[in-house]
Amino acid sequence: MKAEIISTGTELLLGKTLNTSAFYLTGQLSGLGMEVVYHTTVGDNQERLLGALEQALTRSQIVFLTGGLGPTADDMTKEVVAHVLDLDMDFYQDWMNSIRDFYNEKLSLPPGSEKQAIFPKGAKILKNEMGTAPGAIIEKNDKYCVIMPGPPSEMQVMFDHHVLPELQKILKEGKERMYVRVIKVFGLGESELEQQIQDLMAQSSPFLTLLDKHTYMDLRVTIKTKDKGKAQVILDNTEAVIRKRLGDSIFGVDDETHAKIVGNLLRKNKLALATAESCSGGLLGGRITSEAGSSDYYLGGVVSYANSTKEKILGVNLDSLAEHGAVSEVVAKEMAQGVKEYLQADLGLSITGIAGPDGGTEEKPIGLVYIGLAHFQGVDIQKCQFVGSRESIRNMTVETALNILRLYLLKLGST
Ligand code: AMP
Ligand code: MG
Repeated sequence: MKAEIISTGTELLLGKTLNTSAFYLTGQLSGLGMEVVYHTTVGDNQERLLGALEQALTRSQIVFLTGGLGPTADDMTKEVVAHVLDLDMDFYQDWMNSIRDFYNEKLSLPPGSEKQAIFPKGAKILKNEMGTAPGAIIEKNDKYCVIMPGPPSEMQVMFDHHVLPELQKILKEGKERMYVRVIKVFGLGESELEQQIQDLMAQSSPFLTLLDKHTYMDLRVTIKTKDKGKAQVILDNTEAVIRKRLGDSIFGVDDETHAKIVGNLLRKNKLALATAESCSGGLLGGRITSEAGSSDYYLGGVVSYANSTKEKILGVNLDSLAEHGAVSEVVAKEMAQGVKEYLQADLGLSITGIAGPDGGTEEKPIGLVYIGLAHFQGVDIQKCQFVGSRESIRNMTVETALNILRLYLLKLGST
């Protein structure tokens, strides 16, 4: 089912207000399997809003409009909807009463409040739990207009509590919807990935799109159909084909994170992890503990930012530091072993590197990172060279560390 969003409000075109409502709505509608085909932003101008809505209704079956429900002259959404759908306006006394209830009895109603109880004839009125302006769903000739207030807090509650149940009813009536599977790929660039699935990307159904998420790639498989069962079979089969080609580069699907997958593997193998972080400053520990239940497998970490901490707590050799420097294979190795012993873990994961923007040399450029994994048989070290800002180098470092751990755990499980 094709949907569009029309955001109204001159403030949105002045760079004064970020259009968070369109972002929120798009996420919700896509999650329901609706195909959002256009976003339009229009100022508080009757003629332009009229044109935008007329056009939207030629392309889409359902149009979501936000803003312009207030009592003032620049609020005109309902009038425009009535005009475009050729409906009269009606006064809804029940809703006038509830608007009156919203105000404390001692307060007089602000001027123009009656306007908020006037809607196109036949509208299904939607309660506003966070404010006074109700919203509405108006249907004509199997086309729908959903109107909601501008303030995002009012719009979101109205959407969640009152629009969503109505949409579920509309969608149940055998409408075509989109089914999506997101396959998460680590370690392959956009063109590298594209090369491996070129033939699949050339298909129109299911259709595949790539989205660069900076530290990994989202490969979205989408199918449009009325048949949920058929959609699941096609998504499962396509995922199986892609898995065969990309193997362990795939770390998860849909909303699975690297930290969650690694956590599940640690739990399954009954292994306890400890981390030692230098340039990532605790980011890895933060990522691991963002998963509920991580205490099952994560003992903790040492943020050994200073050399003295590396030495005192992790037992890194002063000679190693002096001879090779803190960013070196030797120090990464001693950090991983050190934290494993110190916290009596099964696995020790260490990070030491140069996140920039200063501190790089020709020999040790910005973005040089060593990641160490101390395990039962010894310590593995991976030398990495990342590029980008301090933030992106630190993010890439953490994801790569999780990936190293994931690959180790997968290998462990298969032997
Ligand atoms: P309105 O209902 O049009 O009077 O909107 C009231 C206020 O809600 C505006 O002044 C904005 O601050 C805010 N607002 C309206 N539309 C949006 C939007 N699409 N995203 C974020 N804030 C919005
Ligand atoms: Mg407005």
